[in-house]
Amino acid sequence: MRELLSDLMGELKGRDIAEQLKLLVNRFPGEVVFSTSFGLEDQAITHFIAANTIPVNIFTLDTGRNFPETYSTWSRTVEKYKLTITAWYPEAKTIQQFITAKGPNSFYESVENRKECCYIRKVEPLQKALKGNKIWITGIRAEQSNNRHEMQMLEWDEVNQVVKFHPLLNWTWGQVKQFVSRNDVPYNPLHDKGFVSIGCAPCTRAIKPGEDFRAGRWWWEDNSKKECGLHIHAEVTAEK
Ligand code: SF4
Repeated sequence: MRELLSDLMGELKGRDIAEQLKLLVNRFPGEVVFSTSFGLEDQAITHFIAANTIPVNIFTLDTGRNFPETYSTWSRTVEKYKLTITAWYPEAKTIQQFITAKGPNSFYESVENRKECCYIRKVEPLQKALKGNKIWITGIRAEQSNNRHEMQMLEWDEVNQVVKFHPLLNWTWGQVKQFVSRNDVPYNPLHDKGFVSIGCAPCTRAIKPGEDFRAGRWWWEDNSKKECGLHIHAEVTAEK
């Protein structure tokens, strides 16, 4: 696997993002997917894909608890770029049993409940969305959290058996904002109200000046536990 990552890294080096995406879809036709939650980074990547007509399959995880603003951003994106975005949902029976047993907001009561909710609403649907694919494009940036500082642009995801590609890994928040503004990319209006990382409505708040990017996610929890299980840090990279 390390060899494949090194080869790919060598091929991607020195190319711009549109070229990198084209190279990946040519190398793995029909097996490159991009997950969007309609945050600013994801919108920038969607723009690269749509503006260059790159045949990447785009999907989103509709947890059922998103902000109304997220759904309107989704609509505006589809409308502007004439894209198909596949929506993945939690298993109806599993979510029914969970809510019936623990109530609709049990994630505030314990980390265990929160992780169970994230597992049902995000992790399981993600596993289905990634199945059979070779490359998973994400909007991860290194400055989003300490954990993400260690990431490489290409990583092997052992759980999902897929290579993750983070084209914006080294972009700053300012660069993403500038790109979105210059290219008139539709974006979630919550970003103008202090929200940076936008997830489910009951689990996301705006951050205050100077706070960490991820401070607005599950703010009632200890910092070290703030991942939802979508991005387990990979151990195999092109450089390790
Ligand atoms: Fe559930 Fe909150 Fe996780 Fe969304 S972010 S899946 S509401 S615990």
